Amino acid sequence: MNDILPPESARWEWLEEKVRNLMARFAYRNMRTPIVEPTALFVRGLGEVTDIVEKEMYSFEDKLNGEQLTLRPEATAGVVRAVVEHTMLYEGGKRLYYMGPMFRHERPQRGRYRQFHQIGAEALGFPGAEVDAELILLAHSLWQEIGLQNVELQLNSLGQPQERKAHRAALIAYLEKNVDALDEDARRRLYSNPLRILDTKNPAMQELVDGAPRLYDFLGEASLRHFDTVKAILDANGIPWTMNQRLVRGMDYYNLTVFEFVTTQLGSQGTICGGGRYDYLIEEVGGKPAPAVGWALGVERVLELLKEQGSQVPALAPDAYAVVPDAASLPQVMATLQKLRALGVSVQMHTPTTAGEGMGSMKSQFKKADASGARFALVFGSDEMARGAVTVKALRDGDGQQAERQLSAIDGWADALKISG
Ligand code: ATP
Ligand code: MG
Repeated sequence: MNDILPPESARWEWLEEKVRNLMARFAYRNMRTPIVEPTALFVRGLGEVTDIVEKEMYSFEDKLNGEQLTLRPEATAGVVRAVVEHTMLYEGGKRLYYMGPMFRHERPQRGRYRQFHQIGAEALGFPGAEVDAELILLAHSLWQEIGLQNVELQLNSLGQPQERKAHRAALIAYLEKNVDALDEDARRRLYSNPLRILDTKNPAMQELVDGAPRLYDFLGEASLRHFDTVKAILDANGIPWTMNQRLVRGMDYYNLTVFEFVTTQLGSQGTICGGGRYDYLIEEVGGKPAPAVGWALGVERVLELLKEQGSQVPALAPDAYAVVPDAASLPQVMATLQKLRALGVSVQMHTPTTAGEGMGSMKSQFKKADASGARFALVFGSDEMARGAVTVKALRDGDGQQAERQLSAIDGWADALKISG
């Protein structure tokens, strides 16, 4: 679990801002659900025989009432629970998004943490393939907005439950024939969840997995048509994709379209975003049956990839730094700074870190002003202040130009201090 500190946290805020802005343009609305949910929600929702439920959940008993609780390992189950609880689909479908921490007890490594953060989008109540495509377009737009490169879109279709059933029987027969080549996990899952065996990360089993019967070959006409529509919309939008028939995703709740955005630049933690359709989850957690589709991206992985690609995020710097030679003027100085902030200027005030030694020399204050990255110093000298003015001195450009500004006319010159001004 990581502490996210400044200046790194500025990258997080930058990304979150881009996401909010983009979600608004797609008319997706923000949703915030609790970090703790009943354990049963995840066991039912994600499936008992999944990596997450079997070995990654932080579960505990509420000592006060004996309830079994879990720190959410993902947010879709909680969103669905809330949608059902508040009958949000009563007047039609909903487009929603969330951001926040998730918890999985994994072996920590680059791009894999025990508290990590996801941003996710969900469209609930819409059966059509156009919504699957819209969600993929949304993710794709986000990569463009933040300048992310080299992400590959991989698609697959998991079909419908009865198609999976037929495939499952064929798969079990195949795996039974090759039982000697199965690792321990796979043997345990042979009858409980054979499809997940195809999702193995064990290189020793790749050959076996490659030769297994493919779910895709079991898809019926309606499933294929749904998938074709998704692909046609992506093609019309010039979004490249590749077919990955081994893409099965980590939760049991998916059907029809599944997808991942993958990069080769983060080692083995190359999936930055994954999602798909989950038409049976709402019913599974006790709601009236309704279709749904969504995705989640890993914030840490997206930010690491951006960094890897050398992307520059605006540095943290105030517009102005207030140099205050005399502590006696602080009440008036701070009243002025409040006005500037109300006018949209970001100002950092010089503040001593040692008690009882005054404000410090002008030299040391200017040194701090410089280090802050501010473009201007506001010098609140007693001479200026006696004239009801402040000196505005350029720190970055303009060869240290300075000019005296009347405090009574602050509205007239405040804008020029702003980066955007
Ligand atoms: P992986 O196959 O890498 O374990 P996953 O299939 O378990 O990923 P999802 O549950 O689909 O991941 O979550 C969506 C995204 O969240 C992933 O694509 C990834 O970017 C991110 N993510 C998942 N687990 C972690 C983690 N432990 N640390 C950081 N990011 C994660
Ligand atoms: Mg995982």
